[in-house]
Amino acid sequence: QTILSQTDFTERDDLTYPFEERGLQFGDGIYEVIRIYQGSFYLLTEHVNRLFRSAAAIKLQLPFSKQTITNQLQELLAKNAMTTDGIVYLQATRGSAPRTHAFPAADTPANVYAYVKDMPRKREEIINGVSAITQRDIRWENCYIKSLNLLPNVLAKQEAQENGCFEAILERDGRVTEGSSSNLYLVKDHHIYTHPATNQILNGCVRMRVKQFAADLEYPLTEEAFSPEAIANADELFLTSSTSEVMPIVMVNGKPIADGQPGSITRQLQTAYEADAQISNVT
Ligand code: PLP
Repeated sequence: QTILSQTDFTERDDLTYPFEERGLQFGDGIYEVIRIYQGSFYLLTEHVNRLFRSAAAIKLQLPFSKQTITNQLQELLAKNAMTTDGIVYLQATRGSAPRTHAFPAADTPANVYAYVKDMPRKREEIINGVSAITQRDIRWENCYIKSLNLLPNVLAKQEAQENGCFEAILERDGRVTEGSSSNLYLVKDHHIYTHPATNQILNGCVRMRVKQFAADLEYPLTEEAFSPEAIANADELFLTSSTSEVMPIVMVNGKPIADGQPGSITRQLQTAYEADAQISNVT
């Protein structure tokens, strides 16, 4: 497998890292997960823009321009003869340097790599919906940065899985922020609610598109947080992410949402997503 390493391409097995590496030792870095459908990127520009926003937020100097990394990611798909559904994982850290908290010397190059991976669409879950549990959002105050520091997200997702659930719905101060690796939406009386894109959530690339889909379908979407208690009376609940698309949530903490079936607005947004991504309708 060919991977992008620093500013060039190499084979996967040729890539090694020293143990004194900022990403490994401090989680001092950022990443992106970009969807690929039938060998083509979906929302690549949005992901590259967010990568640069995250980099600026942590004062990380990326060793490429937006145009260069865009071209290189396209080249990465070509070199791997990618034709299936998958993702690219890209991460950039503050580089390799002796361990000390403050930034290393300014001329220390960032460590960057990106690789492709097959990832089929989650058809069964997209069709039938998934279950979730609620958990306290114990993350830091800068969740808008797609940081490598994911321990609270890891623990939340693990807790969900140990309870037989797909996702953990995070709540902070009586408001639902987002999922452990997704954005969250509640539908009540044909109205869609989701947490505003403040520093308390990651503004998902799919979330940005869902706002447009809702506008096109003429459903009001209000960026206003809802409470965990409101979930019990929701007409529909769904999540979005690059790997989960528009995913119905049909059960929370063991209780069904409405009749326990994916809702009609969720279905319409799924169809809009599939049209936008130019992929087949599975529902
Ligand atoms: N929120 C969190 C915490 C995430 O980790 C993710 C993606 O993995 C998302 C939201 C959704 O972002 P996107 O739609 O860009 O995949």
